[in-house]
Amino acid sequence: MEKTRVLIIGSGPAGYTAAIYASRAALSPVLYEGMEPGGQLTTTTVVENFPGFSDGVDANILMDQMKRQAARFGAEIRPGRIKEIELGKRPFRVVDDKGRELEAETVIIATGATAKYLGLPSEQKFRGMGVSACATCDGFFYRKKVVAVVGGGDSACEEATYLAGLCSKVYMIVRRDVFRASKAMQERVFSTPNIEVLWNCNTQEVLGDEFGVTGVRLLRKDGEVFDIKVDGFFLGIGHHPNSDLFRPLVSTDENGYIITDGKTTATSVEGVFAAGDVADPRYRQAVTAAASGCQAALDVEKFLIDHKA
Ligand code: NDP
Repeated sequence: MEKTRVLIIGSGPAGYTAAIYASRAALSPVLYEGMEPGGQLTTTTVVENFPGFSDGVDANILMDQMKRQAARFGAEIRPGRIKEIELGKRPFRVVDDKGRELEAETVIIATGATAKYLGLPSEQKFRGMGVSACATCDGFFYRKKVVAVVGGGDSACEEATYLAGLCSKVYMIVRRDVFRASKAMQERVFSTPNIEVLWNCNTQEVLGDEFGVTGVRLLRKDGEVFDIKVDGFFLGIGHHPNSDLFRPLVSTDENGYIITDGKTTATSVEGVFAAGDVADPRYRQAVTAAASGCQAALDVEKFLIDHKA
């Protein structure tokens, strides 16, 4: 059976950074790209907040560069995903989606998270043309414009207050008559004058033309259907960590985020590490994911030295 010292699962900034560090440490990592090569970032256009690019960088180019950098130092990057994994004893046994079996001394889980969408066809149609699930990535493009944020949790409130600092007006579309968010977050929303909360409203359709989003059609609980004019439509209804395959095997929180041990990337299983958004409900940035990918590779290196057969 094929053997590797480090198996990296996932190809966002966390996975590729782990691969860069592990390959430079002569650990010859094998990385599986997964369902969405390049990760969540590839669903946006220009990345303006990744350090080192004063004029911004195309997200696909950035990810392609990370991939090439990892390959240059000897990481073996494979398309496809891991279908089965056994973490009961080391070396760990995995099977990929082509049926290929592999034994791994250590595993870095870097499978990311997926933003939840409402599931409307119009929302898909305008994705990247005014529909976004990342205020910190795309908010800058809506300076002095009007936007809407869907959701009533901490994420939505955080996005709305962030966008309120950039945009002339922010609507919050909340499906109930209360927020789910913490009291502190709610207070921030209520004390921000350019946020208007539209209670008891569900989005029926995202409206737009060939240039992108122009508005949203809403259905209020009392049956009234009405349109609001907006330039951007932001989803803030939560993320789904891509941890389903690992969930019975490593400890996760109640939302499925993998729990890591304090300051390290160690999971509840010795020799298994987690990096990036799959273990991070809080920061969810490309740069923080890359940083934790680096930490995971360093943790693996130390683990392999400490557990030398
Ligand atoms: P939550 O699950 O807490 O909130 C999701 C929100 O979206 C709820 O208001 C929910 O409505 C609404 N929603 C869900 N589905 C739909 C839908 N189909 N249509 C309309 N509205 C919908 O997710 P968050 O991402 O906000 O938070 C996840 C976790 O991360 C929480 O534990 C949160 O506290 C934490 N977090 C902490 C932050 C911080 O401390 N700075 C920042 C961001 C998140 P309803 O209430 O009706 O179900």
